Amino acid sequence: MINYLYQEKNWQSQLSDLITDPLELLEILQLSPEQLLSGAILASEQFKLRVPRAFVARMQKSNPFDPLLLQVLPHHLELEEHAGFVTDPLGEEAANQLPGVLHKYKSRFLLTLTGACAVHCRYCFRRHFPYQENLPKNEDWLNIKNYLENNPDINEVILSGGDPLTLSNRKLALWLERLASLKQIKILRIHSRVPVVIPNRIDEELVSLLKNSRLRVILVIHSNHPDELDDVTCAQLTHLAQQNILILNQAVLLKGVNDSAQTLIDLSHRLFDAQIMPYYLHVLDKVKGAQHFDLESDQINQLYNEVLASLPGYLVPKLVREIAGEKNKTPLYGVSTF
Ligand code: SF4
Repeated sequence: MINYLYQEKNWQSQLSDLITDPLELLEILQLSPEQLLSGAILASEQFKLRVPRAFVARMQKSNPFDPLLLQVLPHHLELEEHAGFVTDPLGEEAANQLPGVLHKYKSRFLLTLTGACAVHCRYCFRRHFPYQENLPKNEDWLNIKNYLENNPDINEVILSGGDPLTLSNRKLALWLERLASLKQIKILRIHSRVPVVIPNRIDEELVSLLKNSRLRVILVIHSNHPDELDDVTCAQLTHLAQQNILILNQAVLLKGVNDSAQTLIDLSHRLFDAQIMPYYLHVLDKVKGAQHFDLESDQINQLYNEVLASLPGYLVPKLVREIAGEKNKTPLYGVSTF
């Protein structure tokens, strides 16, 4: 019933009606306020709760361990200090060449056009990223263009998060046009969790924009658990895939959320049914506040071996870790400890 209601609302109204109060979230899910142990409200002040109602509608009522809920509910353990868990685990400050620009890999260039996300994932490696000081203004385009022209090896631009699909179609169209005007750019990749948490974001205007671009567009969604992919979400994504937009999925391995081989296997099948290919399975980036999602490397190896033994190769996402300063993501399969 709740799902039906949210299908009827456009994505802009859903984005302006997010749940930001942990107590309201618990009430909707018929959970007691005691679920928020002392410290959780403070954790929420440090990294605010944000979750769309369409995503909450997929959570199980009265289940404090629901895998979707655990990804968004502030937790008192976020306040703990743990050795090795830092505010900038991927060393992005060093790769921050211009406002909004991260140049980490030779042929790819990451552009952050907004600091806003539709959902705040508690494990996000950018949860401490200083977006407000680091967003490109309109007049920064010329500097970005010069930077690209001075780096002719770059042929792919990645719009990343904050979440680029929180931007209006008009703003996206402007940036697509700018990037498409540079001959060296062949591929535009959009990293977004919005199509999963607010599936109505894939409106016809966006579909038309992406399919008519000169650039080859790849959408990389972020889904960690098959329960996130309900029928409405899958139908919207399949519609986009049928317009010749390649859709890939990246997931993060999270304790208590998707740390079972069967969950990962089901996720791959669910994605494939919706015409989405599994792409990456990331081990957790060691960001301060997310240590309670971390898994031991032995457990990860065991899980991944089970996934490999159960799925055809094309449905197995690559197990990787991003290491600050490395020229590419580091594959982990076959590595005994990491
Ligand atoms: S950038 Fe992605 S992972 Fe991080 S909070 Fe936003 S949607 Fe979640």
